[in-house]
Formats: sequence, C-alpha cells, structure tokens
Amino acid sequence: MSAAALRIVVIGGVAAGMSAASQARRRDPRCEVVVLDRGPDISYSACGMPYNIGDLARGVDDLVILNAETARSERGIDVRTRHAVLSIDVARRAVQVADLEAGGEYTLGWDALVIASGATAIRPPVPGLDLPGVFVLRDLTDARHIKRHLADVKVSTAAIVGAGYIGIEMADALHGLGVAVSMLEKADQVLPGFAPAIVEVAERELERQGVRVQTGASLQSVQREGADLLVYSDCGVIRAQLVIVAVGARPEVALARQAGIALGASGAIAVDSAMRTSAPGVFAAGDCAEAHHLVLDRPSWIPLGTTANKQGKVAGANAAGADEHFGGIVGSAGFKCFDLEVARTGLGAAEIAQAGLAAVAAVSTHHTRAGSYPGDKPITTVVYAERASGRLLGAQMIGGEAVAKRIDVFATALHARMTLGQVEALDLTYAPPFAPVYDPILIAAGVGVKALAKPRR
Ligand SMILES: Cc1cc2nc3c(=O)[nH]c(=O)nc-3n(C[C@H](O)[C@H](O)[C@H](O)COP(=O)(O)OP(=O)(O)OC[C@H]3O[C@@H](n4cnc5c(N)ncnc54)[C@H](O)[C@@H]3O)c2cc1C
Repeated sequence: MSAAALRIVVIGGVAAGMSAASQARRRDPRCEVVVLDRGPDISYSACGMPYNIGDLARGVDDLVILNAETARSERGIDVRTRHAVLSIDVARRAVQVADLEAGGEYTLGWDALVIASGATAIRPPVPGLDLPGVFVLRDLTDARHIKRHLADVKVSTAAIVGAGYIGIEMADALHGLGVAVSMLEKADQVLPGFAPAIVEVAERELERQGVRVQTGASLQSVQREGADLLVYSDCGVIRAQLVIVAVGARPEVALARQAGIALGASGAIAVDSAMRTSAPGVFAAGDCAEAHHLVLDRPSWIPLGTTANKQGKVAGANAAGADEHFGGIVGSAGFKCFDLEVARTGLGAAEIAQAGLAAVAAVSTHHTRAGSYPGDKPITTVVYAERASGRLLGAQMIGGEAVAKRIDVFATALHARMTLGQVEALDLTYAPPFAPVYDPILIAAGVGVKALAKPRR
C-alpha cells in the first residue's frame, strides 16, 4: 500500500513561498501543495517596482512572473490568494485561515509547513501617514496605488522619506517622470551603511540631478493643505503632492511568534541551513527568516530577493522530504543611483565595529575602461580587510558602469575567504572596452594591501 500523499502548506506566495511550492512539487509530484497569501498577487518581481513605476506606459501586472491560474494548471499548486493565515497550531499541525473574499474561516492541516511571510514596510509612528498621497512601497498593491496617484493627480513635487536603496530608486524613477524630488534622511548621510567615499559620490550625483537632500532630518508629520501635502521634519517643511515613505522593513513574524517558534537575535525566524525552524515540520524562508552570514559566521537578517528565492527552494525541497542546505550569504546588493551603479558585499564599517574586528579600510578611484578607449568612467572602491590576517571583510563600489558585476568578484572572494593579497593576484580580464590593464578590483586590493602593511598608529 502506498503512503498517503504529503500536504505541504506554504504561507506567502511571493519569492520564497512560490520557490518553495514549485520545488516541493518538483521533488515529489504526488504531494499536495497549498499556497495561502492574504494579498491578491503571487510570484512577482518586487525588485522591478521602482522601474515599472518610472514607466507609466507599462502595467504593474508586467511584474507578475507566474499568476495563480498558471500555477494551478501548469504546476499543480493549489494557490489561494486573499486567504490570510490567522494562526499556526504546531501541536495539531494545522493553520487557521480566513477567506478574505468569500468570508469565513477554516482549518487546514499540514504534514509540513513553510512560512514565507516576508517583511512589512516600516511606517514611523507620526501623524498623517494614512493621508491619500502618502505611500510605502512593499508590494504590487502599493505600486498600483502609486501609479494610480501619478495618473490622477498632477504631481510636480515628491517627497521621499528615507535615502536607502529603495528611496534612491524611487527618486530616480520619479525624476525620470519630470517630478521634482526632495529626500529626507534621518541619518547624517544618504545610503546609511555605506562608506563616506561612496556616499560623497552618490550625494554629488543626486545634487547634479537636482534632487534636494536633507540629511539628519527626522520626519515629524504629514499634513494636508488644499491639494498639497506638507511634510514636516525637524529641518523644515516640504510641499509635495506625493510622499513615499521608504525607511526600511521588518520581518513579518507575528504568526511564528504566536506559535512559539523561536526567533533569532535579529528578530527574524531562526533557521538552520536546511531552513528548519525550532518547530518540527515547520520551515521558514525569505524575508521573514534569518540567513547565516559567512563573513560574520553567525545568523543575520538582510532581506533580499536573491536570498528569498534560494532559501525558498531549499525549504520546499526539504518539506517534500529532501535533505538540501542553504549555503549562506555574504550580504551582496546593488542598485542604480541615477547615472551611477552602487554595490556592496560583506561587512561595512559599522558591522566590523559591532563584530569587534580590527580592520583597515582603503579607498581608491580608478577607471572602468582603458584610457585609450572612449567612454571611460570613474569608479570608486572601498575595501575592508582584517588587520591581522589580511582577510577581505567587505567591499563597496560606485561608478558609471560595470559596478554591480565587479562587486561579484569581491563576493566570490568573500565566499572563498580570500585575503586582499590573493584578490590582488587574481587573473581578471583586460580589454580596452571593459577594463584598464589593472582592473579597479586589482587596484583596490593593491591599495588595501599597502594599507595593511602600514604600521598601526
Ligand atoms: C521596492 C523594492 C525593491 C527591491 N529591490 C531588490 C533588488 O534589487 N534585489 C534584491 O535582491 N531584493 C530586492 N528587494 C527585496 C525583495 O523584493 C524581497 O527580498 C523579496 O520580495 C522577499 O520575498 P519573500 O517571499 O520572502 O517575501 P514577500 O515578498 O514580503 O512576500 C511575503 C508574502 O507573504 C504574505 N503573507 C504575510 N503574512 C501572511 C499571512 N498571515 N497570511 C497569508 N499571507 C501572508 C504577504 O501578503 C506577501 O505576499 C526589493 C524590495 C522592494 C520592496
């Protein structure tokens, strides 16, 4: 007699959830996979939202990779959108679900559960964030609302609260639509977490593009005055017709916490490399979960799509009975800042200090192409290395082209636990259209090696 088919329930149907569901079905086509998402959409590119918003001719639905019907008909996944999970009963192996369309609740049992509940945009506790025209950008519903607002209201000025990567991407998108952009940032620099040498270049670019930036400015309230919104901070007031609040996200862990599933020090769900949580049969993946940071050698929370997809795949395979492991992260991320690319991997100065590591930082500015080839652009690199061992700890870059992919060399070096000396010795390509004879990566490593050789003052 064959064993009864497993039922795998997945909470959340975006990057981690749909990767888990698809992988589980692939591993064991007999298993029943039910995906529950409280929102109307599944499987979309959240990362593409700023670019989509900047292109009014494109529909937001262009960002959908797989819709619920196709997931059902082609992958055999029982996708239930607008179904919110209210609670998890670990002992009974069941979830309580509210059907937000039809109304009513039901209990759904599982043999394995994958929590892929993602993260939620942070809304600072100040008055006025519920006013029409004030948005966060987390999911496709937010993107639809922002695009509808841009279509319905004559937006000549936008205020963006938060100058991290999402704030900058939105500044770029709105500026491209002819909207004057003002940015407010609570920290004393844009791009918190980036080194001063990188920030200086980014701030110059924002200024060149006509973006007004106020740093050290804490949002106090948003108020309506006629057709305008007044954005008050401790640095003054900005008049705008659109406000985007992009001050970060927090892991969506309410269900896990209530179910007694252990959270890590970061506040996200603690998982092992197999994406198992503290509860038997329960896996977690994506923005709601921690990931092992290979440079720090401890769990961390860096919510990114690339990690969500990979963790989801491992969680789904294991929920279907496999024994897969997620290899960990080094914290690589890249984004566009108007005409520049910005990227980082590994640790920055704050994380190095927090970890109590003694390190050197080295800054270099070089070129993206050979001098003999037209179109060459400057590129600035900051590398961090452990003083005692010379081990690379992190790198950050900003420049006009080929930055995001160059950072991947540093990311690879971090995976391999290479020293800066070993990075400097790498055999990298040279051809005038792509790089100078000494690539900026090699120059940066060389400058770092010299800094390591200097006696400590
Ligand atoms: C504007 C923007 C740009 C980004 N750009 C990049 C980028 O360039 N590169 C990159 O790597 N990453 C980027 N990211 C991050 C990336 O989008 C996320 O890491 C990724 O979406 C996380 O996927 P996830 O499946 O873990 O979570 P989410 O995308 O948050 O999905 C979680 C889902 O779970 C559902 N859910 C939560 N609780 C319940 C419940 N109780 N019941 C039912 N359903 C529930 C939610 O409705 C949601 O649909 C960006 C994010 C944003 C917002």
